[in-house]
Amino acid sequence: MVREVIRPGDRVVDATCGNGHDSEFLAAKVGPEGHVWSLDVQDAAVQATRMRLSTAGLAVQSTVVQADHASLATVVPAAWKGTVSAVLFNLGYLPGADRGIRTRPGSTIAALGDALDLLRQDGMVSVVVYPGHEGGADESHAVRGYVSALDPKQFGVWRYESMNGPPTVPWLAIIRRSRHHP
Ligand code: SAM
Repeated sequence: MVREVIRPGDRVVDATCGNGHDSEFLAAKVGPEGHVWSLDVQDAAVQATRMRLSTAGLAVQSTVVQADHASLATVVPAAWKGTVSAVLFNLGYLPGADRGIRTRPGSTIAALGDALDLLRQDGMVSVVVYPGHEGGADESHAVRGYVSALDPKQFGVWRYESMNGPPTVPWLAIIRRSRHHP
């Protein structure tokens, strides 16, 4: 779905860059005329993402910063407001690292608000949610409530989740800014 939205030259954001897999995908899609801003709270993730992008020859179209995505609006250039085609959130903790450093409901919801402000018409926020780890159920509940309360005239919301699996199964929310309500 994200692949369909992004065009070469676009501006995109990875709000939880971790080991840099999503940033690499985004940077390759936007190409050298585009740009990806990647954020993570922990230095190990920032270093891993920089290394991955540089090894893939994608450093020129990317900026990786150690920052809380709750401050997304001040980290990403002000001129990006209303111009971004995709913002990716892959919640939770960095695989293989300290599980205590994980996304939290308050900062995640703040960041989602900032991410929606960044979107251009038809732009997309993707959120992968993991209810199964410690604290994950609360975050899942918060994200579910947030996306349910969005104005349907401004945003389309799709949830992809198991209908009959256990409540710990990860799920995906896609939020798309309407073409008709900037
Ligand atoms: N997208 C990554 C990839 O492709 O490798 C995986 C992301 S990992 C599941 C979640 C990441 O969110 C961790 O690296 C963690 O440090 C980061 N994180 C936790 N709280 C954060 C916050 N408030 N702001 C930004 N990143 C945060």
